[in-house]
Amino acid sequence: VPIGAVVKDSDSGRILLEDDEGKEHWITARNMHMVRLMHPSSVQGVEDMIRLGDLHEAGMVHNLLIRHQEHKIYTYTGSILVAVNPYELLPLYTVDQIRLYCNKRIGELPPHVFAIADNCYFNMKRNKRDQCCVISGESGAGKTESTKLILQFLAAISGQHSWIEQQILEANPILEAFGNAKTIRNDNSSRFGKYIDIHFNRNGVIEGARIEQFLLEKSRVCRQAPEERNYHIFYCMLMGMNTEQKKMLNLGTASEYTYLTMGNCTFCDGRNDAKDYAHIRSAMKILTFSDSEHWDISKLLAAILHLGNVEFEGKLTIISLDLLYPPGMTSLTNLSIIVRGESVSRPLNIVQAADGRDAFVKGIYGRIFLWIVNKINSAIFSPTSQKAKGSRHSIGLLDIFGFENFGNNSFEQLCINIANEHLQQFFVHHVFKLEQEEYHAENITWSNIDFTDNRQALEVIALKPMNIISLIDEESKFPKGTDATMLVKINSLHGKSKVYIPPKSVHDTKFGVNHFAGVVFYESKDFLEKNRDTLSANVMQVVHSSKNKFLREIFQGLDTTKRLSTLGGQFKQSLEKLMKILEQCQPYFIRCIKPNDYKKPLLFDRELCIKQLRYSGMMETIQIRKAGFPVRYSFEEFFDRYGVLLPWSLRQQNDARQSCISISEAVLGKDKSWQAGKTKMFLKDHHDTVLELQRQKI
Ligand code: ATP
Ligand code: MG
Repeated sequence: VPIGAVVKDSDSGRILLEDDEGKEHWITARNMHMVRLMHPSSVQGVEDMIRLGDLHEAGMVHNLLIRHQEHKIYTYTGSILVAVNPYELLPLYTVDQIRLYCNKRIGELPPHVFAIADNCYFNMKRNKRDQCCVISGESGAGKTESTKLILQFLAAISGQHSWIEQQILEANPILEAFGNAKTIRNDNSSRFGKYIDIHFNRNGVIEGARIEQFLLEKSRVCRQAPEERNYHIFYCMLMGMNTEQKKMLNLGTASEYTYLTMGNCTFCDGRNDAKDYAHIRSAMKILTFSDSEHWDISKLLAAILHLGNVEFEGKLTIISLDLLYPPGMTSLTNLSIIVRGESVSRPLNIVQAADGRDAFVKGIYGRIFLWIVNKINSAIFSPTSQKAKGSRHSIGLLDIFGFENFGNNSFEQLCINIANEHLQQFFVHHVFKLEQEEYHAENITWSNIDFTDNRQALEVIALKPMNIISLIDEESKFPKGTDATMLVKINSLHGKSKVYIPPKSVHDTKFGVNHFAGVVFYESKDFLEKNRDTLSANVMQVVHSSKNKFLREIFQGLDTTKRLSTLGGQFKQSLEKLMKILEQCQPYFIRCIKPNDYKKPLLFDRELCIKQLRYSGMMETIQIRKAGFPVRYSFEEFFDRYGVLLPWSLRQQNDARQSCISISEAVLGKDKSWQAGKTKMFLKDHHDTVLELQRQKI
């Protein structure tokens, strides 16, 4: 990918260039062909990338780079906001800034996440239509921070300082405590997806909200990669709880627990676990968690930590909590199976017992999380704010995991990437449609443009009958199904598809999927088990016979005899529901970009950014724009810039549109590869260059 540069020096036929990364290059006459003049718009940078003369990857990334260096982290591409994580607190989010952006049109002020929020709000009220903001980007890019900023802005302009506004804002610290963790990519990484729907009454005042969660990463409760932590709540609890309470739960410090030390990291620089605990406690009070509910949760969290320290050596360590009691004890060490109608119990080996224990713990934590989300919803969701009750509208904020492609990808990555395929389809459809609508509104002669549609991939993966995910699901429900039989089925049905890449040999367990953002190889081992996501009958027996009422409560509705819906099935269902909601909305897109891997301010890694621009579909947008008329000027703007090119003989006329047409005919020719709409000139990239060069000659 080309790189931007400035001329620093020259001598006898050579020029010295300094590129965007600060490297110097002497360019001689012989390799001068490798250098191209930058479009003037690229030199100073533009607030809206649609205005870029150099509308390609290099131009885009150069624009973001020079803006980033000036702390201008927000840039538009049409109505899409690109937000580059500054990794430092900028004075952009003060009360004064909120006031400033209130009631302004996009483009009136420098690009800002508040401008998007304000537009959502304005359009919701004016068009009486639900709005949504799809916030995407990879881990650490700034999705959750952007979501919080929008929420803050909306609460501020709703302006009631009401209890409900407060409650909605305070839901976040609780969700983050239980659903976020320190990872190598982000000290506060969300390990679940969420959609927050904020409901407004007809006067634009916040009335309630509802939170939908997606696919919490449960494995983290039992295992963390090096330098990563378990969920914040555990460390906060151990640092923040008073001595007496800790004594009652028999708790020590984080370093004493296997489940908290697998990543060899119990502290996180820049976080204050004790202080956070106080905040979580007060937030829980605001969201109407009673003291006894809080205590119930604490007991289960403590039980999880104690269970993690259980070692299996044939004899079971005694656990001092009421979570398990004698009948439960053997449930962790024995497996009951039904043989000819009779229950037979046989001991598990150490590995099996530990696996069973981990599955139990993951089950408990996952259920606690769901219970908490429900509890929060019961506080912030007011049934009167439902749409059926008249002209009430909502703004939804989607903060969901970005596309993932790691060294080792498993079932979770497949689910996450399917979610991203759905969102990409939504995005492409929308951007494409908007484009068509603008041409239509401006009366532009227009034949359909070509663009890469991920529809086909999405159909093969998740929509058509016998799609990949449904085959996985079907095999999971089949008692004799294994990861291998699942692969055989996928191979036989999709082996010839462009979307699916079969394993290289019969021994290979990895298959590939050609996603819109690139090919990802998935390790099929454990797919079925992860998808089944079931707890053994023994463990369910422990739950049902436990003296801990709260434990029984969080597992309520989960009956061992009933066929449970699979993880993939549940995810698919909630995703389809989400897409239906989004399709009813007027959408906005925020593309968050992580500028470097070191969490450092003012450090801009070009390669990393280009990669993200590609993943996020920004390049796709550019392709669409390129096929169309990427350069647009209102007649006034066009005339301001290129009026000097109007032939003398035509200077008498005072019709702006006609003057613009005359200029274009004189300079660009009459081939109609450019067009005049009702209010704007529509040009191709090179037209703008030709016009610019002509202008400079005068
Ligand atoms: P994940 O997918 O891991 O949840 P994310 O996209 O939600 O990642 P955030 O948690 O929002 O990422 O951001 C990561 C960190 O980057 C924040 O904790 C904060 O330190 C910094 N950050 C993000 N956005 C901003 C901002 N606008 N101003 C200052 N710092 C920011
Ligand atoms: Mg996040």
